Amino acid sequence: MSTRLEEQTRAEIVEAGRRMYARGFVASNDGNISARLDDTRLLTTPKSVSKGFMTPDMMVVVDYEGKKLSGDRDASSELPMHLEIYRSRPDINAVVHAHPPTATGFAVAGIPLTRAVLAEVVTTLGSIPIAEYGTPSTAELPAAVRKYIKAHDGLLLANHGAVTCCRTVMTAYYKMETIEHFARISLVARLLGREHLISREEVERLQGLRGMYGIAAPAPLCADPSELAAGDEVLCQVLEAPESSSARLVPDVSSALRQASRDGEIRLTYGELTALITDAVKNLRD
Ligand SMILES: [Zn+2]
Repeated sequence: MSTRLEEQTRAEIVEAGRRMYARGFVASNDGNISARLDDTRLLTTPKSVSKGFMTPDMMVVVDYEGKKLSGDRDASSELPMHLEIYRSRPDINAVVHAHPPTATGFAVAGIPLTRAVLAEVVTTLGSIPIAEYGTPSTAELPAAVRKYIKAHDGLLLANHGAVTCCRTVMTAYYKMETIEHFARISLVARLLGREHLISREEVERLQGLRGMYGIAAPAPLCADPSELAAGDEVLCQVLEAPESSSARLVPDVSSALRQASRDGEIRLTYGELTALITDAVKNLRD
């Protein structure tokens, strides 16, 4: 029997899928969304359907072991990853998985989104690490996600995509939007050759404001980032934020050159090289 809550949840999943597809976060029939209905049942998107063109009746009702309880279609083969997140995070009610191109590009490059750059991201997500590669649709992917999901509401999935979780379908979807937006801004800043980070003191102030905005903090910052390597499960966040407000993580080109002349060897990232050439051309014109 369908309750009002179930009807509303079905409608929210349809809407989140529509936005996900419209924004190009998925291609073809990729991506999946799920939500808790109660302590024994979940609602999830069907496989082999474009997430941009779903209707409420297409959803599949499953239990927390992944067994289908009702629905004409079958659940996504990525359902075990969702189930793992619900087991690890009793505080969340919805999971969204997609392949947003810029964030997935970072996941392919092996570059996590863990720099404190945007106040909004520091407040809502904190750091966005990369879960190690696991073959999609196998137990490897849930295991890779398990390591990080207790301390993070959003993860990149190596060579695959991203996954977010939150208290409602729409807030989990918004976290996916935030990750992709953050990835695009980070890409532009890195192409320009430098990033100014938010200081650690400011990060702590921003995280202190979470309560005011009704944002549940996923996890505290790690006092000692080296503790991450030790355990199987990550229970705190690593965010790159300098102690001093004037410190830069990515040095500008002139300091990279000064360093190079000391070492007798030049090592530049692609972004730094591009900035160097741009500066040289500009100087010629001037
Ligand atoms: Zn996927």
